[in-house]
Amino acid sequence: MHVAVVGCGQLARMMALAGWRLGVTFSFLAEPNEGTACVEHLGKVVVRDEQKTIAELYAALGHPEVMTVEREHVDVAMLKAFAEHCAVHPNPNAVSVSQHRGREKTCMRDLGIGTAPFTVASNAADLKQAVTTMGLPVLIKSCEEGYDGKGQWMIREAAQLDSFFAENNVSQDMIVEGLVNFSEEVSIIAVRSTNDECAFYPITENEHRNGILLTSIAPAKAISPALTERAEDIAQKILRKLDYVGVLSVELFIENGELLVNEIAPRVHNSGHWTQAAGISSQFENHIRAICGMPLGNTQPKTAVGMVNLLGVKVSDQLLDRGNLEIHHYNKAIRPGRKVGHINLWNIDREQLAADVTQLRDEIYSDES
Ligand code: AMP
Repeated sequence: MHVAVVGCGQLARMMALAGWRLGVTFSFLAEPNEGTACVEHLGKVVVRDEQKTIAELYAALGHPEVMTVEREHVDVAMLKAFAEHCAVHPNPNAVSVSQHRGREKTCMRDLGIGTAPFTVASNAADLKQAVTTMGLPVLIKSCEEGYDGKGQWMIREAAQLDSFFAENNVSQDMIVEGLVNFSEEVSIIAVRSTNDECAFYPITENEHRNGILLTSIAPAKAISPALTERAEDIAQKILRKLDYVGVLSVELFIENGELLVNEIAPRVHNSGHWTQAAGISSQFENHIRAICGMPLGNTQPKTAVGMVNLLGVKVSDQLLDRGNLEIHHYNKAIRPGRKVGHINLWNIDREQLAADVTQLRDEIYSDES
């Protein structure tokens, strides 16, 4: 089986590393200026070229049976064109829904799934009206292209709203969201195969810094079996509604014991990197299994598992001496704040694991506190 991945970052790298073991080969489609160090030696890299037809690109990629994506911001028209040649998982429509916060939240609402209160506006007058109707405080987010907290404005008072309109020309869809008073941010990584088999990893608790994921722990603390069932039900509804094949990540808020969807990502996700540890099938392996029509693997670790992101920092390999942890490097040059790797660690005792994650985080980022 040959799979082409749109994108050449660390997610493509880890999908390929997991897939090679299954006998799957890979090629990668890069944007003209995209860095490709993460996928070096893992398969042929083809640079997207407007002069080439889709059939030519498809041939250059080695006639893959399946195409997949490592990011949501890809050209959906291009995916649809590739779908004339091979299976595209997740399907272009599912990718399109997740590319636009308005379409995404409307899809949740149509499925009866809770979200923050929201209104979509495409010009300044409608946006002002939406903020007035909702009442401050609100979050204004651009519907497209925002990620890791970018393209977002927290508006707590009227003066901030005035500055927002003075500094921003509203010419694209924006979403106004009411603030969720969440007690925890969690995510669920779900996967659906071509045979409609669905599997779910334990709910993950996530800590962000400056809008970027810093640590994850699974299972999330104080998650009742009922809440787990509810999260799995939410994920399953989305998978089936979108006729989705592969790994889907659902980011959720817990507010007053209820789950609200913040956003979905049509791909393997940073909050699921811990799945590489503790002897189960990782999200990367299960994604490849799903899109290649193989049975899904175990998603339930017997220990607690955590992850600490390496953001613009390098750690000593001597860390491996501690045991119960693994280091993943992405083959990227180190730049401030850049995701260059992560560490997974595990422990049978969840309390101890949580303490180990905190200690490792503080050691790694001791210069920043
Ligand atoms: P996002 O880009 O939508 O994932 O948002 C980045 C972060 O902003 C989230 O991880 C939350 O911490 C916070 N956030 C986003 N939307 C809301 C909301 N409606 N209410 C409160 N916090 C939010």
